[in-house]
Amino acid sequence: MTPANHEAARRAADLDHRKFAASRLWAVAKMPYLATALFAADLDPAPGTGTVGVDRRWRVRADPETFARLSTDELGRLLVHLVSHLVRDHAARAEVSAPDAADRWNRAADAEVNDDLQPLALVPAAAPDLPGRFGLEPGHVAEEYLREVRGDRLWDCGSGCDGKIRPGEGAERGTGGAAGIDPRQATALRLGLAAEIHRAAGREPGSVPGGWLRWAETVLPSRVDWRRVLAAELRRQLAAVAGAVDYTYRRPSRRAEPAGPVILPSLHRPIPSVAIVCDTSGSMHAQLLGRVLAEVDGILARVGVRDARVLAVDTAVHAVRRVSSSRQVELAGGGGTDMGVGIAAAAALRPRPSIAVVLTDGYSPWPTEAPKGLRVVVGVFTQRRAPSSPMPPPWARAVLIDE
Ligand SMILES: [Zn+2]
Repeated sequence: MTPANHEAARRAADLDHRKFAASRLWAVAKMPYLATALFAADLDPAPGTGTVGVDRRWRVRADPETFARLSTDELGRLLVHLVSHLVRDHAARAEVSAPDAADRWNRAADAEVNDDLQPLALVPAAAPDLPGRFGLEPGHVAEEYLREVRGDRLWDCGSGCDGKIRPGEGAERGTGGAAGIDPRQATALRLGLAAEIHRAAGREPGSVPGGWLRWAETVLPSRVDWRRVLAAELRRQLAAVAGAVDYTYRRPSRRAEPAGPVILPSLHRPIPSVAIVCDTSGSMHAQLLGRVLAEVDGILARVGVRDARVLAVDTAVHAVRRVSSSRQVELAGGGGTDMGVGIAAAAALRPRPSIAVVLTDGYSPWPTEAPKGLRVVVGVFTQRRAPSSPMPPPWARAVLIDE
């Protein structure tokens, strides 16, 4: 490369950091309770991508040419939108709900995010999807929208939205040196934000859009009844599972007759089934676990699950029972804890459950990756939990059980 070419390449990778700072201040003024999240997002060049998106380490990855075309206000709207994906952890949710549907997930997640930005006139022109575009009601989450959403995404919001790591993103330092933040820091940041949103809503009722309040409630379960959080989570997961309509050849379609020897696929709605993985290690209080299990049972019945299987797990799986009532469950076990073993055992059950509810005090190693096709909700008993004990992994939905 000649020095002149080199200089041109360097300029092409240049991003106007002052413009970024101005857009960020503009965004903070519009949504003050998202300030910490907006300031956590670092700018990093991503030449040739044709987009301004976010990665899983909270870096704003910007194609310098695309970046240069956006006005300060439009960039500000886009920043609020992209940071909303990060705060709501759309990447981890995509891994569970849309591992093979990145484009549709991006659109569904955009509808969820923009739903709360519309009343504030903050929907970015570049990524304008709203629930109404797909004939859907507002106030729902991406997992529910995903069922009806079709077509390619209008704007690539990045791996921070769809979970798919792009080339050059894996490193701790980005192309321009931006470090971003790690999953542990992101979890702490979300907790702080949820508290800030609660305070803002308390100071000035109506100032925070409903979707943000609902989000804060699920992140701050200690402020609300864990039963409500678990029920809401199960309903959300069940809605996603029940919506996973697939065409199956298992049962012949009634349309098969006129078609002669050709077997047509029939529409098959899987009935969601639930496995409950109970941590029965020495650190767990058996009486407390029994009581919570009875309550989980009640919650399952209310959301329409009649038949759950219960696994008693410490470092091995001791008992698998098909129960219609927790009274039928014997809790065997003791010793150490490895909930990864329990999750793997749940995933291996036949018929295969679609949701696993793990009840534990959290003193457990966790698998680094989500089990394929199994949604995991972790109820963490906080009573005996030391602040240093590892939180459930980001791919699982955690609910704190305060007793
Ligand atoms: Zn988006």
